[in-house]
Amino acid sequence: MNADVLIAGAGPTGLLLAYELGLAGVPALVLDQALHPDEQPRANGLVGRIALVLAHRGLLDGTSLHPLAAPRFPFGPLSLELDRLEVDPLHVLPIPQRDLEKLLHDAAIGVGATVRRGHEVVGFDEQDDGLTVRVHGPTGEYRLTARYLVGCDGGRSFVRKHAGIAFPGITSDEVARMARVHMPAAEVVVADGALAVRGVRLALVRPNRTATGSITITPHAMLDPSADPDVYILATSEPRPPHLPDTLTLEDLRASIHRVIGADLPITGARWLRSTVANSRQAETYRVGRVFLAGDAAHLFSAGGAALNAGLSDAVNLGWKLAVAVQGTADGLLDTYHAERHPAGRRAILHTRAQAALSSSGENAESLRELFAELLRYPGPSTHLAALLEGSDVSYGPGPLVGAWAPDTLDEHLAAVLVEPLRSGKAVVVDNTDDGRFAAMTGPWRERVDSVEIPGACLSALIRPDGYVAWADGAPGTLREALTKWFGTPRTPIRAAVPPGIAVRP
Ligand SMILES: Cc1cc2nc3c(=O)[nH]c(=O)nc-3n(C[C@H](O)[C@H](O)[C@H](O)COP(=O)(O)OP(=O)(O)OC[C@H]3O[C@@H](n4cnc5c(N)ncnc54)[C@H](O)[C@@H]3O)c2cc1C
Repeated sequence: MNADVLIAGAGPTGLLLAYELGLAGVPALVLDQALHPDEQPRANGLVGRIALVLAHRGLLDGTSLHPLAAPRFPFGPLSLELDRLEVDPLHVLPIPQRDLEKLLHDAAIGVGATVRRGHEVVGFDEQDDGLTVRVHGPTGEYRLTARYLVGCDGGRSFVRKHAGIAFPGITSDEVARMARVHMPAAEVVVADGALAVRGVRLALVRPNRTATGSITITPHAMLDPSADPDVYILATSEPRPPHLPDTLTLEDLRASIHRVIGADLPITGARWLRSTVANSRQAETYRVGRVFLAGDAAHLFSAGGAALNAGLSDAVNLGWKLAVAVQGTADGLLDTYHAERHPAGRRAILHTRAQAALSSSGENAESLRELFAELLRYPGPSTHLAALLEGSDVSYGPGPLVGAWAPDTLDEHLAAVLVEPLRSGKAVVVDNTDDGRFAAMTGPWRERVDSVEIPGACLSALIRPDGYVAWADGAPGTLREALTKWFGTPRTPIRAAVPPGIAVRP
């Protein structure tokens, strides 16, 4: 085999998956068709639980980045006022996608991954014990063999199409035209969360609806304090014309602004112009045999903020499971990827489509917005929607404890025990018995499962490498079952990569 796991796509999903695999001792091979990372600005940051997961993994160490509680957050055209709630239900990590990709690339390389750019996956066939993958590289076509192939190759995923996986959903009948535009300070007044210009007042950050469409304007400096204060991220939304040109010009954008607000803005220059039509789609299955999908290849959403949380969470769910399958036997384990992540994707489809409906035009949508705005004055609905955005409503088990994310669920004392395993990507058994009977059972899985004895702690639990509770307070037999279910029977010695700063126990 040329690689145990071959990943198509070196976007954020493929790179985080490569890191997760490397952490578990499986050096992945990542192929990307593009010679260089995409320079077009995309996401300005991460929203949701994945921000905490990256921090737990230690991936933000040595940077000035840390997850922040969002005081407010847009839900379609409305605003969730989260600082009025007792707990912080939603986290954000302000980092441009390009910087995130660099961080994940370096981390993946640091744990043994190989990234080849300019190498496009153009075909594959599955055999009993693996796959043969056809690749078009700079010097022509060649073949690789791998045990598993993961399509992290974006919304137009070749891997998804070649595997024959359907991608049902809807395509928006609106087009978004966006750019980073320069408007001189002398021409605009920014105050009280709004921008006033030439007799027009536009709320910042959230969509301003008019009879013909909507416009959203965000000062770039609000997302990146080092940015030019005269630069704004501007997006219009209008009905999609029958023929949409491939490229967006500044004249087209100006015309769109005029149609939406009935006035011109004093734009003196623009970069990164693009028009996009939103898709809301989800792959019918995330796995066919030895082929998996993750990230945009598996799901596309019709509102901002959800994609990276969902895609990177796919990677964190899949990485350690593939490592277990590569290193041992894992009957049924790989099927839990679809079983856990497909419903999570559905939840994101649910709230992003609801946001799109709230943002649409017409009198019905007007009433929907008015009613939603009334509901959002109560803490319950705001908390519920924030949990959807965070992804904290997702559970991987019957609950209330099994399937829950441990850092959210365990008391502070027990959560502190998780710091090291979460950084090293290992599972851990927390044992509250006086005789350490649960810890003693981890012997055969020692390479993958740590144990911590805390006699008298409020519970015993098995926490998976992704931080979710796999077993809690049962009989020893049920712990053995859980260890076998989640970690199989080791086949080869595991030499897990040690990320910088992790102390290795003798
Ligand atoms: C303008 C814009 C703003 C956005 N803002 C946000 C935001 O605020 N929050 C958010 O969460 N998301 C946002 N997104 C979405 C986010 O950028 C995507 O969800 C994210 O890039 C998906 O990551 P990915 O790794 O799954 O796929 P991609 O980033 O699309 O990476 C796929 C990679 O696969 C490679 N590839 C494709 N085909 C092949 C092949 N056959 N062989 C080898 N390689 C291949 C491509 O070259 C590419 O590098 C935004 C997107 C855009 C366009």
